[in-house]
Amino acid sequence: MPGAHAELGRQEILLWLREEDPERLEILWDLADRVRREHVGDQVHLRGLIEFSNYCVRACAYCGIRAENRGLVRYRMSGDEIVAAAADAARLGYGTVVLQSGEDPFYDGPGIASIVRRIKEATGLAVTLSLGERSEQDLTLWRAAGADRYLLRFETSNRRLYDAIHPARRPGSESDRFRILRALRAIGYEVGSGVMVGIPGQTWEDLADDLLAFRDLDLDMIGVGPYVPHPDTPLASAAGAAGGVPHTPEATYRVIALARLLCPDANIPSTTALATLDPAEGRERGLRRGANVLMPNVTPMRYRRLYEIYPEKACLSETPSDARASELPTSGRSVEGRIRAIGRVVGAGPGGSANARKRSPQACAAPQASPRRPRRIP
Ligand code: SAH
Repeated sequence: MPGAHAELGRQEILLWLREEDPERLEILWDLADRVRREHVGDQVHLRGLIEFSNYCVRACAYCGIRAENRGLVRYRMSGDEIVAAAADAARLGYGTVVLQSGEDPFYDGPGIASIVRRIKEATGLAVTLSLGERSEQDLTLWRAAGADRYLLRFETSNRRLYDAIHPARRPGSESDRFRILRALRAIGYEVGSGVMVGIPGQTWEDLADDLLAFRDLDLDMIGVGPYVPHPDTPLASAAGAAGGVPHTPEATYRVIALARLLCPDANIPSTTALATLDPAEGRERGLRRGANVLMPNVTPMRYRRLYEIYPEKACLSETPSDARASELPTSGRSVEGRIRAIGRVVGAGPGGSANARKRSPQACAAPQASPRRPRRIP
């Protein structure tokens, strides 16, 4: 159900997105933090991220592991390696593993289904998949095998911009991530999506529409990070052009805070891209401005630096050790230490979406006319 600020209109969203006054922004951070506390509490859920293949058939103009990038050593983890990494994550105290990869058909439907089944049997962990645009048949198979959640960012709701940065796989075919997101919901996944902030050519209006799309899609998870230019991609030369949305932590915090107001029950990570651009404070600031999830990297070290979707990823020096104790770069503090230092606690269990729990089949079929109290932001 919509929360107190879920009624925010496009004009109001735009004003906040463009806001630069630090004192006014404090109001936004406080509101987002309050809504976060009221709706999803003080627990910070940790997800162990396993990046199991950097092969990709696509040509996304922003992404360093795009097929055309020949300068990259490619790797694929075997099923055994993936299951072992998940077992490590379980032993180290994680409640969820996220399996992410380039769009790599080498792992076919039954292959991924078998890996999911093995992880569920061996660990009981919640399993999130983030494998790009796959057929409904595959998505259905994986859900039946026990996968709980699926992440697929729509990257931008501006169709023209999307087509420019995310070409279809074959001429004549169309990439429609909104269609896939609807299918994921129908299949019964907890559904996550999100965008990059500061894509060359992106406008504040685009971001306002992105935020409204988060609400319309009734997302369970919302991942928002700054665009980080990768030198070996076509988009990098356009980065930083005057006039558009800047690819900065500051712009990203505003989007995260507004996402929390619009989707109060969603799980929202403080992303690695944010920590990459603001290594000292990015994770904490994200958590204090609406986010409630962290995704430490548990990919085996020998593969990790090869999963270079953008350069200097913040996780490269983090070791896959105890979920709570593992060191994050630059601070010398453990994950748990950093979470406690901002008055929060490490989440227990799988940390499923409060939004999904609230969404009963009945409520989906016929939204109730519950009394809403639209509170306007001062
Ligand atoms: N192949 C999967 C997983 C991609 S990586 C997919 O396409 O869904 C996950 C996310 O990383 C992408 O959705 C994108 O939003 C983000 N990403 C990719 N390149 C990036 C870059 N240069 N800067 C910031 N984020 C990037």
